[in-house]
This record gives sequence, C-alpha cells and structure tokens, in this order.
Amino acid sequence: MRLVIKIGTQVISSKTGLNKKRIRQIIKEIAELLKLGHEVILVSSGAIGAGLPLVNFKDSVCKKVAAAVGQPMLMHNYINGAKKYKIVVGQILMLSDDFTNQKNFKNLILHINAMLAHKILPIINENDVMKGEDLIINDNDMLSAIVAVGVKADKLIILTNQDGLFTDNPDQNKKAELIKDVGDIDAKIKAVCSVGKSDLGVGGMCAKIASAEYATKGGVETLIGNGEKKGIILKAVGNNFSGTRFLAKNNSKR
Ligand code: GLU
Repeated sequence: MRLVIKIGTQVISSKTGLNKKRIRQIIKEIAELLKLGHEVILVSSGAIGAGLPLVNFKDSVCKKVAAAVGQPMLMHNYINGAKKYKIVVGQILMLSDDFTNQKNFKNLILHINAMLAHKILPIINENDVMKGEDLIINDNDMLSAIVAVGVKADKLIILTNQDGLFTDNPDQNKKAELIKDVGDIDAKIKAVCSVGKSDLGVGGMCAKIASAEYATKGGVETLIGNGEKKGIILKAVGNNFSGTRFLAKNNSKR
C-alpha cells in the first residue's frame, strides 16, 4: 500500500520541545511498514514546536524564527531514528504555490515518486519561514490530503492527540462516543468538529474533517487516530484501527 502519514505538532512536541522517544517510536513503526513492502510518505509538523523553547522573544516573526531553528532539529531526530533501520530520509519544504502552480505540483509528485523508487523516506513540511499569511494551504492536514491525492495514496493517516472524531466534546460530555466510520461527510459530521475538543496546532478537528473530505473525494481513505498510542500506525494499516475511518469515494476514477 502507498501511505501518507501526517504527524501533528502535539504528537511529537510539548512546551519543552521535541518528544524524541515518540519520534523514535514513529520511525520504528514506519520501518516495519517498509519491511512489509508498503510505501510511506511522512508529513510532519513540529518545526515551530521544536524551536519555540529556544526562541526567547515574542513578536510577529517569532514563529518564523522558531521554525527556522526547529526544522533542522526535527529532521535531525528523524534522521537519527531512521539510521537504526538503515532508512535514508529526504526533506521537502512546501509553499502554497507548489500546489497551485501546475508545473510545481507535477515536479513535487515526480520527486516524491523518485524518492520512493530510491527507497528514500520523504518527510514533508510547510516552508514555515517563507510562507505568507494569505495561504490556501494553512496547515499540514490539508497539505497531507493534497499530497495523498496527488500521489494516489491508498490511505491517509492523520495522527493527532485525540482518539478521533467524537459525537460531542469528550472532555465535557462523558456520553460522547467515538465515531468509528464515516461514509458521507455531511453537515452533521461537520457540526461535530465545532463542539469537539480542539488541539493546539494550526489544524484542529475542523481542518482534519476538511482534509478528510478532500482526500476521500479524491479516492483516498482517511484515518484520524491518536498518535500518542503505541502501535497506532501499524493498526491503521491493519484491521483493528481504534480511531475514525472516513471511507474513500470515487475510487474508480483513479
Ligand atoms: N508547519 C508547522 C510546524 O511544523 C505546523 C503546522 C500545523 O500545525 O499544521 O511547526
């Protein structure tokens, strides 16, 4: 299977910086997938999360500076984790133009495919330092969905700090239930994200639903699960996934 795995900021970082142990765990599971013959494209947030503890000032450019400091730290940890399994990683940093400009997008897909052909693990993030505020792509959730459709992935796995999509805010309503399968992303499903527990990243649950809608319309099954749980990546590929699964549409068109 061809898999796009998106890792949210909260999964791999906290106020004190990167969670190196979690990064090692993620790479370990990816290594198992690669061993089984799957193809993996990783979309990882966490640059700003990694850099913020080292940037002790607060103004409008603070986040950009944090991203500039944090992106190499993020990659350093992925490279270190991957070394153990003899996995070589490659970095792709993207701007909105790379999606809207057809030539850029064609190049992106070409080079992701080339990396996969060379058994290199592509690790993608937004180019946070260079990005403007007038974005089409404002978070890595949508970025991962566009990439997943572009590379004709079999699954998009979005990992966050929540178990998935709930019928209500699970922190406030003990009766809130995890929605295991979503066929149609209708108004009822979209309404759920506005009451659900939101995470601290740019995305939040509404962005994840919008991304799932984009990906499933493009024929890519989308899963949202808790990246803090060991084994979640392997489960997402198997049949015992414990999060929310959005069924793919239009598979025949691909
Ligand atoms: N690109 C940002 C980072 O690496 C995160 C954006 C997001 O949360 O989607 O820190």
